[in-house]
Amino acid sequence: MTEGADDNGGCGGGCGRFATLADKLKAHIKQHGPIGIDHYMAACLTDPEFGYYVNRDPLGAEGDFITAPEISQIFGELIGLWCVVVWQQMGQPKRLRLIELGPGRGTLMRDALRAAAVAANFLSAVEVVLVEASPVLQDRQAQTLSAVEQPVSWVASLADLPKISSAISGEVGLIVIANEFFDALPIRQYVRHDGHWRERLVDLLEDGRLGVRLSRDAIHPMELPSYAAHPADEGTVIETCPAALETLTMLDHLAGDQLFALLMIDYGPFKSAPGESLQAVRRHQYADIFAAPGDVDLTAHVDFETLALHARKLGLAHFGPITQGHFLLALGLQQRLRQLMAGLEEAQAEAVAKAAARLVDPAQMGGLFKVLCLTKNIAAPPPPFDIITTPNQVP
Ligand code: SAH
Repeated sequence: MTEGADDNGGCGGGCGRFATLADKLKAHIKQHGPIGIDHYMAACLTDPEFGYYVNRDPLGAEGDFITAPEISQIFGELIGLWCVVVWQQMGQPKRLRLIELGPGRGTLMRDALRAAAVAANFLSAVEVVLVEASPVLQDRQAQTLSAVEQPVSWVASLADLPKISSAISGEVGLIVIANEFFDALPIRQYVRHDGHWRERLVDLLEDGRLGVRLSRDAIHPMELPSYAAHPADEGTVIETCPAALETLTMLDHLAGDQLFALLMIDYGPFKSAPGESLQAVRRHQYADIFAAPGDVDLTAHVDFETLALHARKLGLAHFGPITQGHFLLALGLQQRLRQLMAGLEEAQAEAVAKAAARLVDPAQMGGLFKVLCLTKNIAAPPPPFDIITTPNQVP
């Protein structure tokens, strides 16, 4: 998102009129008034000049946070095999667009394609498209995928992806993978105050710093999730993520009448509920969201229930959410782990096992992260939803 980019007087974000993102946002607020948390979050993460992702590779033990594909190669491998099975369920279309949203260092895609080599026909159908806002990470992905033989291309945003026309190209499959992408999409926050909901806005405080204040106007509960209509205590916070719903709508549009599957893995609860989850993380530690705009990662929990309900409105089939642990174990994490360990020295084998355990442990990522799958025009449930019942499925 590049809201506010026009504040540079049309010089495309590169003219250096402001020394920091805070200065740039302050100038915007002085001129136009307070901004939503969504505008603030989008600027902090993807401002073309100062955005957190635009200027760095934040991943890994040395960076600010670490993700599942960086922890264990098994993660990407199992997703690669998942893609092969879903492509088979699609009836093995001759062309498959494999899209990844927010691919980080490209590690998941590299591991997925290596594992998918078990199905040569799959690899000859695949064309990879990476949706990545950050030029630094695009470079990193190109390095990671330099040995890949399939065509790989990049777009900065989903809106830049041309729709595939079935009339021109015959049957085409579309598989979309998103690991820790939706948690980076900008959210809005609403606070219960004096019997009304008000939007939390970012404004200039009296001492000249950026801080929050509530909107003067009350927000009608009709504009908020249905649980906002229930009695709520003073100070209760509700978060919404319009950009996540827009992303699903865009993907549905992009898929048109073609075969489509989306696999999203992210952290958040099973059920929609009030609560504040916006957080800033720097060097694996929590930080203040205003401490250093553009220099800390901002994320929020993903509201899986609302996404599943939106998918249903779009006419998509939805499966899950289930926990990441449940998903990976059902896809055969243990079997792959045993295979990997067999060829290693004891200390190495232990490290590999420890990393895999971190992905599935219910007390760690295995429980916090959830997997939701959406499909269109595919008759069978994708794995592992064909073999497991999902007690936490949205009714
Ligand atoms: N999926 C990767 C990286 C997760 S970090 C992994 O699991 O390791 C989030 C990723 O989304 C980064 O690549 C970031 O640059 C990208 N991203 C964040 N917001 C984006 C946006 N609005 N449009 C496109 N990419 C975005």
